[in-house]
Amino acid sequence: MQQIVNSSYCYAKSWLNEGEVADYIPELCKVDKDQFGVCITNLVGQTYGSGDFEQKFTVQSICKVILLITALKDVGFDAVFARVGMEPTGDKFNSIIRLETGSGKPLNPMINAGAIAVSSCLKGTNVEEKFEKVLAMANALFGKTDTEYDKSVFLSEQTTGDRNRALAYMMRSGGVFENNVDEILNVYFKSCSILASCKDISHMGAVLANEGRSPTTGKMIVDPFFVKVVLSLMSICGLYDASGEFALRVGICAKSGVGGGILGVVPNRMGIATFAPRLDSKGNSCCGIKAMEYLSQALSLSIF
Ligand code: GLU
Repeated sequence: MQQIVNSSYCYAKSWLNEGEVADYIPELCKVDKDQFGVCITNLVGQTYGSGDFEQKFTVQSICKVILLITALKDVGFDAVFARVGMEPTGDKFNSIIRLETGSGKPLNPMINAGAIAVSSCLKGTNVEEKFEKVLAMANALFGKTDTEYDKSVFLSEQTTGDRNRALAYMMRSGGVFENNVDEILNVYFKSCSILASCKDISHMGAVLANEGRSPTTGKMIVDPFFVKVVLSLMSICGLYDASGEFALRVGICAKSGVGGGILGVVPNRMGIATFAPRLDSKGNSCCGIKAMEYLSQALSLSIF
């Protein structure tokens, strides 16, 4: 397995100079653009990493999976899906258009509007209490106890996040939720700024691949029904408007983030994570996609 992970790294590294780092969040531009890591965690907790697989980065949209799991646990399936849909979208991850032309409810929890609606479901009296729940879930999923968030990235998102603010106000005016917009956004921005390495994220993938049970401690972390919900959504809308092509070419349940990370889950087999900051035109890590493609072929991982 180590050899295959190394080969996926060497193969995908040829795409290291392709794409651009996300610059709409100014702080994200400061990362070392040449970092690249790949990691697999299997269902008995063994880890195989190559390159910068222990380097931490902000999870960005990968937090949408953590937020969804936290909210499902906090308020249940019906309450969450009263505020967000379960259909894919061919629009960009931060698109506002369907909030105006559709029912007003965001299409799914894997786009920005959907994740903001999911954040609004969390119970708690203030941002800290709500974010504590998200961090606790991140710790359990990563198999750690000391997960932190990057304060500079959080502040950068808070200062420049007008589009997300617009999405939130549209949803509030459409009756999706009644919460204070700044409070919801602070929970969402802090969640996007959570720091994790490929090793941590592949552990999270292995928990989901293992029907919700930690591969290292054996503890049940996510209700198996919620695992099904999350994996279905990842498989149909985890890679923004490139989800269809990724399903055909790779066939792994996945969620990408504009920080350059990709979480992959192969049910009953393994969790996979990649990290390389340069993104393609759809916002997905160029090297990450190539490494996933390689691993899918080499290990016959497509779920289809
Ligand atoms: N924090 C980013 C945003 O809200 C996350 C986007 C992403 O990773 O897709 O725009």
